[in-house]
Amino acid sequence: MPEQAELYDVTIIGGGPAGMYAAFYSGMRDMKTKLIEAREELGGRMLIYPEKMIWDVGGFAPIVCEQLIVQLDKQARLFDPTLVFGQQITGLERQPDGTYVLVAATGERHWTRTIILALGRGILKMAKLEIEGAERYEVSNLHYTVQELEPFRGKRVLISGGGNSAVDWANELEPIAASVTVVHRRDRFGGHEKNILRMKSSSAAVLTPYALTHLHSDNGETIGKVTISHVETGETDQLDVDAVIINHGLKSDFTGITEWGLNMDEWNVFAGGKLDTNIPGIFAAGDFVHYASKVNLIAGAFTDAVLAVNSAKLHMDPEAPRAAYVSSHNERFKERNRALGVVE
Ligand SMILES: Cc1cc2nc3c(=O)[nH]c(=O)nc-3n(C[C@H](O)[C@H](O)[C@H](O)COP(=O)(O)OP(=O)(O)OC[C@H]3O[C@@H](n4cnc5c(N)ncnc54)[C@H](O)[C@@H]3O)c2cc1C
Repeated sequence: MPEQAELYDVTIIGGGPAGMYAAFYSGMRDMKTKLIEAREELGGRMLIYPEKMIWDVGGFAPIVCEQLIVQLDKQARLFDPTLVFGQQITGLERQPDGTYVLVAATGERHWTRTIILALGRGILKMAKLEIEGAERYEVSNLHYTVQELEPFRGKRVLISGGGNSAVDWANELEPIAASVTVVHRRDRFGGHEKNILRMKSSSAAVLTPYALTHLHSDNGETIGKVTISHVETGETDQLDVDAVIINHGLKSDFTGITEWGLNMDEWNVFAGGKLDTNIPGIFAAGDFVHYASKVNLIAGAFTDAVLAVNSAKLHMDPEAPRAAYVSSHNERFKERNRALGVVE
């Protein structure tokens, strides 16, 4: 089959709430739809907090995040869009006829008439320790996550960072480690107040505002000592350690997309009222887009998705209705309503 036969009306990049809802709504608009997600599943950033209770999505008060993902996933698949997992889109090629080819980091190519960028905060990666040569210790005693507590039993552990996870790890490791030292460049810590209080009232040494500045090793294989530096005075201190854990937050990765010529800053693409970007045929939705009065909520992502899909439809067919017929009166749902036993 020639590649052009696989030309889609719309390709949505990102499988978070914005992308999932856009996949559903573009089905309502009879668009041949593809959704591409870098991960192996739908959910986007909601996958970070599956057990949390969500209270601010219309109609559900409350719902466990995991259940909302299940519902959104089901709704996204309703009109059988093509779902592609495990591909990070990096490249864009403009075709002479105004269509596009999206290129994944793996080399796969996707032909499309319009694009909806639902990238959220991009591909989230752990921020690495910015000390030259630090990566060589990642195979020994420099950690970016704590999967098991047992390997830290009886060890002198240094935790660098002040986020939720840094506080949780300090509390979990404190009873079993020989010592726990937390260094953070700010005085304020993230996470629940009660967890922060627990950490501060435990035997863990909490040093602020300090930054981890040097790693020392006698054998070149494991870190044996670290230098920490007071952020304001520059005064330094050295500590003996057996393990170093880094929690410096998440970093976004928009590799390739920053080269497309989009009007964007570090986190967002700027869009007009039709959720149109500065590139014709490319629209945006969810946390990735910024416009006056934008709300970074799941509820906001749904509205963005509707607007972006309608704009994509009108880009392809300027004579098309401005929006889909409401679902309660939409013929498309007649069969499905009957299957649910609804008498109309
Ligand atoms: C801890 C926490 C709690 C929250 N609680 C709430 C709450 O209670 N209520 C609420 O309304 N909101 C809440 N939010 C915010 C909410 O999760 C976000 O507003 C929402 O997820 C944004 O959806 P999105 O689809 O725009 O982006 P995301 O959910 O970030 O999804 C973007 C997707 O795009 C994919 N992607 C990015 N770049 C590429 C690429 N180049 N190629 C392929 N795929 C790509 C990513 O892998 C990701 O899956 C919370 C957020 C956090 C972190």
